[in-house]
Parts: sequence; structure tokens; C-alpha cells
Amino acid sequence: MNDVIQAIVLKTSEYKENDLLVYVLAKQYGKLTLICKGARKMGSKLNAIVQVSNCSEFIIDYAFHKSMFMIKSGKVIETYKKFSNDLELSLMMQLMVEIVYKLEVDEWNDELYELLLTVFQKITKENQYLLGCYFMAQLLSYLGIKPYVDSCVKCKNVKIKSISMIHGGFICTRCFNESEYRNLTINQLRKFRFINKVTWKNVLSLASEWYDMEDFKLLIEFLIHNYHLSLNTWDFLLSLNID
Ligand SMILES: [Zn+2]
Repeated sequence: MNDVIQAIVLKTSEYKENDLLVYVLAKQYGKLTLICKGARKMGSKLNAIVQVSNCSEFIIDYAFHKSMFMIKSGKVIETYKKFSNDLELSLMMQLMVEIVYKLEVDEWNDELYELLLTVFQKITKENQYLLGCYFMAQLLSYLGIKPYVDSCVKCKNVKIKSISMIHGGFICTRCFNESEYRNLTINQLRKFRFINKVTWKNVLSLASEWYDMEDFKLLIEFLIHNYHLSLNTWDFLLSLNID
């Protein structure tokens, strides 16, 4: 049976002599492993549709009992190649894709597909941290580890001073100590609270320059502490020393 699927390419790896295994997040189907025959041969027409972070349409031989499906043909729906000459932005996108690939929950696949697609469609060099932060906040919420940002997570005091990755939310001036928590500015705390509350409808009306690498870092650390992922792209991004 031929099925037409729409999917975002999350990762590829070499397979047999000339083929690729293509790991995708597909609309309505979730995560699938596809086989792309001859993709590593010179001049392969299928090469473009299996580029990581592209959204493509694939015709596959879907069958419920199988775990891998042969790509028969396909076409690119959206490519984000235009970002490939901007290292920071393309790494941000690669990081989002890596996170989705490494998540071991399947129940939010449809939401994740829509989230990735909408963020990728709107992301630019100017708003990459705002949308990166939005992506992370949505993800934490799907995973059930949404940070508590209404008052102190330990005592409910509203005089906020920092964020506790371990306790999962804001820490107040009373509970704060220098050895356990880091000093954050009121502005950083305000941005952290806002991004964890904002909806897609409102996020694009925010001043995109408001969010930067430091805000993104807090959310990534929150994920790493509470979900225990090791992220190669993140380590690489950090090594570039962006601030
Ligand atoms: Zn407290």
C-alpha cells in the first residue's frame, strides 16, 4: 500500500552501500524510520527531500506491522537551506530537531510536529532566541515539567530571586542562597515567566530583541536537569561562546 505522508526530517544515518536511514516526525504517523535507496549516490534525486530539518512529502509503503518503510518518491514542501550560511541560526534549528529526535515520549508527536513546523516557518536571524525560547517552553509543558513561575516553588513567597532547576521553578529571596542558586536579574526572571505563559498568538508581537542566548540557556538547562538529555548540538553551540 502506498501512503503519502508529510514529515520533518530529524536525522539520517548511512545504511548499506548507497542508502540512508531517514528518521522523521510525520504528521499523524509520529516518528518513523524510512529507507532512502541510493540517496548516497552522486546525483540522487531523493537527496534533497531527506535533508535534516526539511519538511517533505514522502510516498512510502506503509504497513502497520513493519518498522521501516521504503521511500518510493517524494518532494520538498519547505526547505530551510536559506539559513545554512548562518551558523548560529542553523545550529538552533538543528538543536530543536535533535531534541525532538531524542525525546522518548510519543504522546505529543502531533503537537511537536505542529510546533516545529510553525517555529521553522517564522524563525529568522532577528527572532531566533525568542522563538527558540518559545519552542523550549512549549516542550517543557508537553513533557509535564513546565516550570512553576507564579511564586516561590518551595514556600509560595512572591519576592522572586532565582530559578531552581532541581525544584522546578522560581526561588524567593528567603529560600535563595548563593551556593545553590545563581544570581539572575529581575529582567531575566520576568522574561522566563513570560515565555512560560505566552501563547503562539501573542509571541510574535513581542520585541524579538528582548530574548537572547542567556534566556535560551536557562530553558535548555531546565530541560537537561529534568529530562536528562545529552545534546551534541548544544555542546557545540556553547563552544562557540555566543552571548
Ligand atoms: Zn521561598
